[in-house]
Amino acid sequence: MSFRIVKAAPMGEWVSHAACANNDLDPNAWTGIETNDSLRQRWIADLAKEICFRQCSVRGECLDHALTHNEFGIWGGTDDNQRQDQQASERQLLHRVSVLQKRAAG
Ligand code: SF4
Repeated sequence: MSFRIVKAAPMGEWVSHAACANNDLDPNAWTGIETNDSLRQRWIADLAKEICFRQCSVRGECLDHALTHNEFGIWGGTDDNQRQDQQASERQLLHRVSVLQKRAAG
């Protein structure tokens, strides 16, 4: 058994259903991959993401937690870069909506 969720930010009951708590993959697969470019590390990270997507019933809660608390590593099947891209896209969308609302009002 491995369990990687050792972060300080409080988590809900969902964490008891985390698939990363019940598999044989090295817990480090979910952490620390952003600073290591080796192919093996990427391969292991991809395995971790695969577990998130295929085996975890609380992926949404996990991703929400990571976005809320700006967590590091793989959460909800995404890595830091993917979450940053997602947040940037959301900010752009909100900006466009704001511009359109101002045009419609003015
Ligand atoms: S989505 Fe991935 S990182 Fe999050 S709890 Fe599930 S297995 Fe763990």
